[in-house]
Amino acid sequence: MRKDPREPAQDTHSHEVVDPAATRASAPVAAASALVLELQRTAGNRAVTGMLQRDTSAAPSSSGPPAAPGGAGPVGDASRPEVEGLLSTFASASGYDAKNAAGIQAVRAVIAAYSMSTKGLRTMRFKPDLNPKNDAETGEAEDNERESVIEFGPGSFPKGFAWLVHITAHELEHVRQNLIGAYHRGDEVEPVSEFLAYNGSVLQVQSVPGPAGKGLLGALATGAGRGPGLPPLPPDLLADQPEMALAMFSRMPSADQKKPQYRQELAGSRDKLLERLTNEAPRALQPPRKFTPEWTRWAEGKPPSDDPFTIEYQDWADAIKGPWEKVRAVWKKFDANFKVG
Ligand SMILES: [Zn+2]
Repeated sequence: MRKDPREPAQDTHSHEVVDPAATRASAPVAAASALVLELQRTAGNRAVTGMLQRDTSAAPSSSGPPAAPGGAGPVGDASRPEVEGLLSTFASASGYDAKNAAGIQAVRAVIAAYSMSTKGLRTMRFKPDLNPKNDAETGEAEDNERESVIEFGPGSFPKGFAWLVHITAHELEHVRQNLIGAYHRGDEVEPVSEFLAYNGSVLQVQSVPGPAGKGLLGALATGAGRGPGLPPLPPDLLADQPEMALAMFSRMPSADQKKPQYRQELAGSRDKLLERLTNEAPRALQPPRKFTPEWTRWAEGKPPSDDPFTIEYQDWADAIKGPWEKVRAVWKKFDANFKVG
């Protein structure tokens, strides 16, 4: 989560790393290690596929008592009261140490509740003077580019439980990428890395640890004990995530844009946005049945009736003032990537 949603979507952050780009730009990828990198990326891709599958098949775990895999602590959304309490503590705390303690404790509660992988994470801290364009940043450790440091700025903590969960998942995706290494091309903005991180927020998925004892490969694969899906972002915070994912996709080299795993990610987000519109948007903005004239009008952002003196038109006019119209509009942009001819 690099971007404050109150800012326009095109106003992106400039750089991922705390450390100057020099180490990354000059990082040699020895020929001998190329095969290993390829294997690792394949493992990562399988993890993505697994998460996509989980995303569409797993039921929300909101019913029944949560069962922690490690035997301790609340799972998923059950951590909300604890995390919200810590966010309140953060808000009222004065002094750096108290804020850092409450903020990072909230992040740790999120990590535990969602079984997020912290492989490759060296440390995390609150950074009051983080570039205000970003709510959080992940950088490489100065002495080891495969290890990461996450800094959470003031924007991480005042926007509620779901926001903190998504910020944490976004930055831990960068931690995973740094651990693999192969995502870095030395560009100022790394579109593939950011595409995956922002897209994960739409799909509500996170990196989870693999089976123990499998080394790096195991850590990157999505294990049987997959974590719970991330909570849905509230609609006013949602649209910026797919906007950023698409902006990053459009900046990816065309060879990357054609890769099946990334297209699958893109299609997954398109479908997730449609699902959320169907289930949560005001009635006037819910998608009609596909391949009807009503569908075409809806998809193009037109009112359901040309006559402004109808209830349908008035309901629609009210609905488009809310955040779901932005979600519909960004869904349309996703869908345009799958038009034939
Ligand atoms: Zn990012």
